[in-house]
Amino acid sequence: MRAIHAQCILCAAKYELTKLYTCEKCGGILDVIYDYHGLSKLNKAAFPGMWAYMELLPVRDPRSVISLGEGWTPLLSVPRLGENLNLNLYVKNETVEPTGSFKDRPISVAVSKARELGAKTVTTSSSGNAGASVAAYAARAGLECYIFVPASVPQDKLTQIRMYGAQVVQVGGEFSNAYHIAKEISERRGWSNLTSTFASPYPTEANKTVAYELWEQLQGELPDWILIPIASGPLLVGMYKGFCELKEIGLITKIPRFIGVQAEGCAPIVRAFMTGTKVVAWERTETIASGISDSLAGYEQDGDYTLWAIKQSNGYAIAVSDQELIRASQDLARLEGIYAETTGAASIAAVEKLMAMKIIKPTELVVSVVTGSGFKDNASYGKTLPDLPVVSSVEEAERLIDAK
Ligand SMILES: [Zn+2]
Repeated sequence: MRAIHAQCILCAAKYELTKLYTCEKCGGILDVIYDYHGLSKLNKAAFPGMWAYMELLPVRDPRSVISLGEGWTPLLSVPRLGENLNLNLYVKNETVEPTGSFKDRPISVAVSKARELGAKTVTTSSSGNAGASVAAYAARAGLECYIFVPASVPQDKLTQIRMYGAQVVQVGGEFSNAYHIAKEISERRGWSNLTSTFASPYPTEANKTVAYELWEQLQGELPDWILIPIASGPLLVGMYKGFCELKEIGLITKIPRFIGVQAEGCAPIVRAFMTGTKVVAWERTETIASGISDSLAGYEQDGDYTLWAIKQSNGYAIAVSDQELIRASQDLARLEGIYAETTGAASIAAVEKLMAMKIIKPTELVVSVVTGSGFKDNASYGKTLPDLPVVSSVEEAERLIDAK
């Protein structure tokens, strides 16, 4: 393990790599610092998937690792979708992670670290996907598990969480209410709170591995743009850090430009990007994309951190409508066979808009990270499809087929 300590991004206070949340001195976000001395390549450990990069993850003992085979997801060229858009487009397909979303990466690291530090009970607040991940990895680690979700969580996600055996607490109102209650209760009871925003420094580290994989899968070629659906944005920040590390150890010379994509009905980071101000909590969230429906109320600094990474990369931030999200999900499924939840397809929905705005150009290499599976929210899609008639004979079936 090359991780040496955690450091506050605001006041630079240093902390040993024990049970950590935000900075005790100023409340700032903590970042894990590594010793890159003598490192000139990505050394691979004898683990499949993401844990091959264990040297640059904050877990000391390989025996602490709780894995379901997360990471090394396919990087798919999507020529039919790309042809529609007149673009050389790739999808980093995180829908095939063990529980169906990219959250398995940060949560595998968070649960492994919690176990290494002797945790008995883990918890998280979640709009659904991180909850499923924590429940699954806690089950595998034999840890007690409590998941705090907004009452609006999609039923398919709730069922998945409960099947893993976690205790679920539904919290009324917005996601941020669940966030604050989970935080308070875990402090009172001494539980390990694995909320995968920037509430603790460890989960975000796992998101670096998406950058390492992209670099390997593109055989050293770098995307011009990487599009990522963002709520508070740890995936974007983690991937940005991953590319910075590749630069630090001399494997690349430039960093791809990052585009954060939010829903029009909840876009606090996009608004701050457009107005050149700090992030202010969103007043009333309203979007079909439950995975990125986070007002950031009470932890606006998480959004500022992501905004910082976007600007550092000379990137961009954009919001898409629910209609555009549904159309992008349909295009992904019907043209490329990739079934994503609406949140996951946000990175596709934004491409067309950015091309029309001439921000993305047809000659550029673009990677859209598709973050979660459509199985996560079957019910919502079901409502968008027309009812199907039932036939009882060959003749009726033929009439139905010819009528199409
Ligand atoms: Zn501090």
